Amino acid sequence: MAVQPKQSMSMDSAAESGFINFYYSMPEKPDTTIRMFDRTEYYTVHGKDALFAAKEVFKTNGVIKNLGAGSRKLESVILSKMNFESFVKDLLLVRQYRVEVYKNKAGGKATKEQDWQLAYKASPGNLTQFEDILFGTGEQSAGAGVVGVKLGTGEGGQRQVGVGYVDCTLRRFGVCEFPDNDQFSNLEALLVQIGPKECVLASGEVAGDVAKLRQVVQRGGILITDRKKTDFSTKDIVQDLNRLLKAKKGEQVSSAALPEMEKQVAMSSISAVIRYLELLADESNFGCYELTTFDLGQYMRLDNAAVQALNLFQASAEDTTGTQSLSGLLNKCKTPQGQRLVNQWIKQPLMDRNRIEERLNLVESLMEDSELRQSLQEDILRRFPDLNRLAKKFQKHSANLQDCYRVYQAVGQLSNLVFALEKYTGKHQMLLHAAFVSSLNDLINDFNKYQEMIETTLDMNQLKLAKYIIICLMLANHLCFVCFGSKLSSYNEEYMKSKEEYEEAQNAIVKEIINISSGYVDPIQTLNDVIAQLDAVVSFAHVSNGAPVPYVRPIISEKGQGRLVLKAARHPCIEVQDDVAFIPNDVTFEKGKQTFHIITGPNMGGKSTYIRQAGVIVLMAQIGCFVPCDAAEINIVDCILARVGAGDSQLKGVSTFMAEMLETAAILRSATEDSLIIIDELGRGTSTYDGFGLAWAISDYIATKIRSFCLFATHFHELTALADQVPTVNNLHVTALTTDDTLTFLYRVKKGVCDQSFGIHVAELASFPKHVIENAKLKALELEEFQYIQKSEESESAPIAKKRYMEREEGEKIIEDFLSKVKALPISEMSEEAVKKELKKIKAGVLAKNNNFVNEVLSRSKVVA
Ligand code: ADP
Repeated sequence: MAVQPKQSMSMDSAAESGFINFYYSMPEKPDTTIRMFDRTEYYTVHGKDALFAAKEVFKTNGVIKNLGAGSRKLESVILSKMNFESFVKDLLLVRQYRVEVYKNKAGGKATKEQDWQLAYKASPGNLTQFEDILFGTGEQSAGAGVVGVKLGTGEGGQRQVGVGYVDCTLRRFGVCEFPDNDQFSNLEALLVQIGPKECVLASGEVAGDVAKLRQVVQRGGILITDRKKTDFSTKDIVQDLNRLLKAKKGEQVSSAALPEMEKQVAMSSISAVIRYLELLADESNFGCYELTTFDLGQYMRLDNAAVQALNLFQASAEDTTGTQSLSGLLNKCKTPQGQRLVNQWIKQPLMDRNRIEERLNLVESLMEDSELRQSLQEDILRRFPDLNRLAKKFQKHSANLQDCYRVYQAVGQLSNLVFALEKYTGKHQMLLHAAFVSSLNDLINDFNKYQEMIETTLDMNQLKLAKYIIICLMLANHLCFVCFGSKLSSYNEEYMKSKEEYEEAQNAIVKEIINISSGYVDPIQTLNDVIAQLDAVVSFAHVSNGAPVPYVRPIISEKGQGRLVLKAARHPCIEVQDDVAFIPNDVTFEKGKQTFHIITGPNMGGKSTYIRQAGVIVLMAQIGCFVPCDAAEINIVDCILARVGAGDSQLKGVSTFMAEMLETAAILRSATEDSLIIIDELGRGTSTYDGFGLAWAISDYIATKIRSFCLFATHFHELTALADQVPTVNNLHVTALTTDDTLTFLYRVKKGVCDQSFGIHVAELASFPKHVIENAKLKALELEEFQYIQKSEESESAPIAKKRYMEREEGEKIIEDFLSKVKALPISEMSEEAVKKELKKIKAGVLAKNNNFVNEVLSRSKVVA
C-alpha cells in the first residue's frame, strides 16, 4: 500500500470554485484516460479518477476528500510526487491507459478556470513526454509505437486493410496494405510482428467488419484510441511528409513521387497517426523520419494465440506462473538496445534461409570461441549505454554534457571491441568482419572529430569525479566569503564578477558542444544498431551454450521441403525449472507421410508440453538461435497458429462453444501447407456430440485439405479413429505408470493410442475422499471393459465412432447420477430392508433409460448386482 501523503489541499474558496468550474468544463473522457492536476508540491485526481486512484494506489477510500458541495461536489485524492510517478508508470506501462496532466498558469494563485490548461499527455504508444518519469536515468526504454488501421475496398470488392505505423524511437513510418479474410488473420499477424502499444481507429464505426477488427486489436492487448473520421483524411499528407521525411543525400524530398503513396488506405491511416501524435508540432521531428513499406511476408506469421501458447513473452509484470517466457530465457543481453532487438526478433522469425543461416553462423562463431563470448558478455558490452535514447536526446537538443561524455566513453570502447573481434580466426571470420568489424571501424572514423572535441573541451580529471564541467572551475558554492574589511569586500565583488563572466562563457561553450554533438545523431544510431546486433547474437550463444544440455545448430531447409525432424527435443523453458528432470521426445513430420499427430493420454501427462515445445523449437530456429534437441532438421514454416481450449469452457453454453469452433475453422483457413498448427484440448468439457463432431471435422479438414503440419492434443479418444481413415494422421500418447495407489508420469511420447484410464489416479493424488474414489474405480473398471469390447471390433468409421461416443457420454452421466443418488441415501438411519428397496427403485430408473453402454456395464457391475 502506498503511503498516504501528508499534504492537505490548501485552496481558498475562489481558487476552489475556479478549479471546479474548469473541471466541469472539460470535455468528456473515457475511463482509460486519467487526468491529473499539478499543484506544484503534489498532484490531485478527481471524480471517477479519484475513486480509481484511491482503490489502486492507496487501497482505501479513506483518502477521498470532497471539494465543493451539493451538485458540484467533487471527489479528490492527493498524490505525492512519488505516488504520482509510480501511478503514472502503472497506468502507462502496465495498464496501458492514457494520462493527461494539467497545470495552472497562475501558479498557486489560480482563481479563474482559464488559468488551467493541459500541460502534457501520454498514451502507451507515445511516451515521449513522460520518458524521464518512466525511465528516469535508468536505461530501460520500451519500444513504443502507434499504429493506425483503416478498412478499404480493394480489387474485385475484396476487403483491403491499410496500416500506417509510427515508431517514434526509430523515427520510422511503416505502411502496409493487404487483403484480409473475415477474421482479419493477416492484420493479427502484422500486429504481432510490429507489436504496437496503441491503435488509432476512426470513431463511430462499430458495425460488422469493424467490430471484428476491434476484437482482433484488443485480443493483442493493444489500446484502442478513437479519432475523428476526418483525421484519416490524406489531403495534407504529401506536405506533412515533405516536412518530416529525411532527404536522401543530394535530393529534395518529394513524397509525391514515393511508391508508398499508392497505398491509399495505408496513407490515410498514417495521416491519422501523424495527427494523433502531433508530430508536426515539434520541429525537432522535421527531416528526421524514414518511410518504409512493411512486407507482411518477410517474417513468419504468428497469431496471438500462438504468442501465448508458446509463452513468448511474460504475460504481465505480475505474472507469477513461474514458467519463464522464451524472451526471458533468450534475453541475456547486456544493453537495452540488445534486449529490445531480441524481443523484436522473437516477434519476427525469419523466412529467408540465407538470413537465418547468417544468424546461426554468428551464433556458432560465438559458441566456438568461448573466450571471445565471455569477454564480450562479461566485460565489453556492458559498457555501452542506451545509445538510442542518447541519440533521441541529441536530436531533441535536450542532451547535456554528461550525455556527450557517455557517447565519448562508448566510442572509446570501440577499438577494444574491434581488437577482441579480430582475434577470432574460426570459420566465420569473414562474416564476423562483414557484420561487425568493418562497420565498427567506419564508426571509429566517423567519431574522430567528436572524440577530439570532447577531449579538448571537457575537463577529464573532473569527469572522473563525475562532474561535468569545462576547464577547472572553483566550486564557488562551497566557498563562503565573510566581509571583514573593505579590501576583502572588493575582492569578493571582483570574484563574483569574474565568476559571472566565466559562467556565461562556459554556458556558451556548453551550448556549442551540445549543438555540434547533435550532428552525430545518425552515427550514434548506427552504433546503437551494431551493438544491439552483437549483443543479441552473443546472448543467443550464451544461452545455447549454458543450457542444461547445450543446444544444437538446426539444419534449415527451404519452405516446402517437407521434413521437420526433432531428435530428443526438450521444452527450453520447462527444462530450466528447478524441480524438473526433463524427458526429451522426438517429433517427426514428413510431407505426404505423417503430417498430423493426435496426442492422447492422462491429464498432466505432458501433452501440452510436447506440442508446444515443437512450436517453440521451430520458432527458435527461424530467429537464428540454436535449439534444445540432440539433432534438428527444420523446414522453414510460414506461420505458427495455435488454438488452445479455454479451461473454463464447461461454463460456457454450447452455442458459444459452437461459435468458437466455427471461428477456429475460419482462422485455420489462413494456414497453408507450409504452416505449423498447434491445437490443445479443443472442446474440453463439452460433453456433447457437437464438440466431438467439430473437432473431427476440423482435424479432417487440416489433415486432408490444408495439409499443414499439425499437433493436436485431445481428450477425445474417439478422435484417434481418424488415423484409420487418413493415412497421414498418426496417433501418439503420453505414458504413465500405475501401481496400486500411485501414478507416475513418464512423459514419454509413444506411438499408438493410450488405453488406460488415469483420471482416478489423478483424483487420488489430489486427495479426493476415499469413497468417491472407490466408486470411481469400479466404474472405471467397467469403462475399460467397455472400451476393450469397442476396440476388439473392426476399426470404425467416423459416424460409428461418433455414435458410440454419444452413447458413452450419456451412459456415464446415467451412472454418475446413479452413484450420487446411492451416496445420498441416509444409510445409517435406514433398515437394511429399506436400503434394498431404495436401491431397487434407483436401479429401475437406470434400466428404464436402456442405454447400451450402461447395459454393458451393468451386466458386469459389482455395485448393482
Ligand atoms: P497435459 O497437457 O498432458 O495435461 P502438461 O504438458 O501440461 O500435461 O504437463 C504437466 C507438467 O508435467 C508440466 O508442467 C511439467 O512440469 C511436466 N512435464 C511435462 N512434460 C515433461 C517432460 N517431457 N519431462 C519432464 N516433465 C514434464
